[in-house]
Amino acid sequence: MNNSTLIDRDLRTIWHPCTQMKDHEFMPLIPIRRAEGVWLEDFEGRRYLDAISSWWVNIFGHCNPRINARIKTQLDTLEHVILAGFSHEPAIELSERLIEITPAGLDRCFFADNGSSAVEVALKMSFHYWRNKGQKNKTRFVNLSNSYHGETLGALAAGDVPLYKETYAPLLMEMITVASPDCYHRRPDESCEEHSRKMFAHMREVLAQRHEEICAVIIEPLVQCAGNMRMYDPIYLKLLREACDEFNVHLIADEIAVGFGRTGSLFACEQADISPDFMCLSKALTGGYLPLSVTLTTDDVYQAFYDNYENLTAFLHSHSFTGNPLGCSAALATLDIFAEDDVIANNKKLAHKMQLATAALTDHPHVAEVRQTGMILAIEMVKNKNTREAYPWQERRGLKVYRHALENEVLLLPLGNVVYFIPPYVITPDEIELMAKVAVEGIEIATGKGRVTSDE
Ligand code: PMP
Repeated sequence: MNNSTLIDRDLRTIWHPCTQMKDHEFMPLIPIRRAEGVWLEDFEGRRYLDAISSWWVNIFGHCNPRINARIKTQLDTLEHVILAGFSHEPAIELSERLIEITPAGLDRCFFADNGSSAVEVALKMSFHYWRNKGQKNKTRFVNLSNSYHGETLGALAAGDVPLYKETYAPLLMEMITVASPDCYHRRPDESCEEHSRKMFAHMREVLAQRHEEICAVIIEPLVQCAGNMRMYDPIYLKLLREACDEFNVHLIADEIAVGFGRTGSLFACEQADISPDFMCLSKALTGGYLPLSVTLTTDDVYQAFYDNYENLTAFLHSHSFTGNPLGCSAALATLDIFAEDDVIANNKKLAHKMQLATAALTDHPHVAEVRQTGMILAIEMVKNKNTREAYPWQERRGLKVYRHALENEVLLLPLGNVVYFIPPYVITPDEIELMAKVAVEGIEIATGKGRVTSDE
């Protein structure tokens, strides 16, 4: 078996996610034969350092022996069972442990099987809660500009990235969108905290004026990942929690991308010392092994649905693979690693190393900003450093970086003009050096010689 045979077979049958398939006329697909730790290996023995944790899911490396072992044991015991009317030990233990480690007050776990579904669960539950409480005017949701919450219609509606959303606009529920606290837009003399605090005025005004029609505010705590890794200060979350309490509106924290140690704390909400009413988790929940998600909520929400059947207040939402035992086992092994190893402290060292390895880029004539929150580091390439004028998206500068990196053993997947690292936590300092060196070279190439065409 070699790469090209598999590529031929693949391109005859598979429609790949988030891809203009015609691009594969000039950009080969890469079939992966095996993987270990941060390394992927193709069928011709070429290696790729997975600097994006395979779409931000893998935290403890590929084929991690501890996670593998737990899944193997589970596989010979119980592969799957319906979670309505039936239960199983992995789901029970996982719920107990998630309730233990997530912010106080999140006391109930509702499982689904991907991030978008977890968001849909939170939106539906919040709406339904107010209905069960007799507040039928509450039908609207508030989001932030540049936010992202998934691709199914409800989750897509909840986000605000035009590239994904615009085409489907006629199909989507209408949100109330408030300007993001994104610190990229702060004035040069302003701190990130000052900017985020200032931007909160917009949110407060909306909540003060329209809270009677609002079910919930949905946010990605600290980092808007799909929105080009834009970051904001924890103060915004603190102010938002206070205002949601004041105006009787739920707070939905979508920690699908930022949960499980990515931002420097186990959950991003911890940095603002807040508890949301709903917390959505997926991706790293299973160490990036299997599709599983969970929406945690409060006893108050749970009790609003708890009634005699004939009152029809139950939450009748289901997915076939809800709480799959193999997924739950992978998640339990992941939690064991957090319990046994000093992951958060080690991540601090790795994050510092990432900062040092990219420090020189701050002065690069086509880099507007190198920003970092824990184990997320992003480099924003711009046409004009002073005015921050962006490169036109049609030039696909990020693609240049992607292609250079692949030729040099690194998988980087820029978002537009933003090159970022979201590596597995098992990356070594030397591997960080390699990742940064290749990114710097790629940025040189992508920003160096004037116009870049997409298909050269
Ligand atoms: N929310 C956030 C913050 C995400 O980053 C993502 C995925 N990138 C999702 C939701 C959707 O998760 P999934 O792709 O598993 O549906």
